[in-house]
Amino acid sequence: MIPFVNLGAQYRKYQEEFHSATEEVLKSGNFIGGNAVKELEENLQSDVGVRFAISCASGTSALQLSLKALGLKPGDEVIVPDYTFIATAEAVALEGGVPRFADVNEHFLISPESVLERISEKTVGIIAVDLFGECADYPRLKEIAAEHHLWILEDAAQSFGAFQNGRAAGSLATIAATSFFPTKPFGSFGDGGAVFTDDPKLAEKVRQFANHGKDATDIYADLGTNSRLDAVQAAVLNVKRKHFAEELARRRENAAAYDAFFRGRSGFQIPEIACGNTSIYAQYALRIQDRDEFVRKMNLCEIPTRIYYERNLSLEPCFARFPSAAKDFCGNKNAYQLTQSVCCLPICAFTDVEEILQRIKTVL
Ligand SMILES: *Cc1c(COP(=O)(O)O)cnc(C)c1O
Repeated sequence: MIPFVNLGAQYRKYQEEFHSATEEVLKSGNFIGGNAVKELEENLQSDVGVRFAISCASGTSALQLSLKALGLKPGDEVIVPDYTFIATAEAVALEGGVPRFADVNEHFLISPESVLERISEKTVGIIAVDLFGECADYPRLKEIAAEHHLWILEDAAQSFGAFQNGRAAGSLATIAATSFFPTKPFGSFGDGGAVFTDDPKLAEKVRQFANHGKDATDIYADLGTNSRLDAVQAAVLNVKRKHFAEELARRRENAAAYDAFFRGRSGFQIPEIACGNTSIYAQYALRIQDRDEFVRKMNLCEIPTRIYYERNLSLEPCFARFPSAAKDFCGNKNAYQLTQSVCCLPICAFTDVEEILQRIKTVL
């Protein structure tokens, strides 16, 4: 079976570099923090173009640390897209906030018009998700945020390496969170994440909360948590970073090959990238009229598929305790349509799309 994300091939290609980088960490005896983590954070700052990059334990933790730093209080409402990975809304609820679910647009991204409809006197911020590798509509979202005195948290877990009007994903909002989960385009060999911001006060708070609340004077001023990046993960990321631009080019070639095959084909709609955006194609998401039939045919020719995401988040039982969730759902028709029609195909830099298209031709 073709792997959905071919991490084995990636490992074999850079094997020697991985071994020498991780061996250095093992010999150093510094397993959390240390040189590899420092080097990674400096790399992240320059790659994303932000003043501060703070590594942490996961993307979910990066979202939670950002919300804490932004000062989220119990009962505060945060507007999130209704079509995204659970962690976006989960982080809000875990930090005591109320997620309000907005609809998405034809690019799978949070709809600014729907955000406007969700604003109440309790709204404090918006989490915009750069879904499937493409940045949300920050120019319009920033206008709305300025008008209503809201912050924006950029969930860049799927967009590290993407650009919008010349600016990198992770630098487009008040603060941003990304993930180094192994199957993300810039993933490590375990969990990891990072927070990006230009604001020194937010950066200091994130660092403090990530390390048990200990402040610059070594005092435990606030309750924090344990959210740090392992040195081995940082060393792996420092290796992968050297090859990342080339991998993104391969992902884009793969997307172009799928586009050429599915464009204009009846019953299929290819992903359209918004003007001003470059996508990193974290996923290649087709909209398909008869998805069940397509998945059945893909199984026949042994091509793996994934359905992201199968339900509107507002329908998940874990959010039923918020009475607003069911109401929000009723306005989120585009998100619902996507849960019924989207199917993702393998796209990573080590996926042989020619082979996949050969097989698809035999069944379509
Ligand atoms: C993966 C992901 C996260 C969470 O990242 P983890 O590192 O797995 O905790 C958050 N938001 C989105 C949109 C994601 O895709």
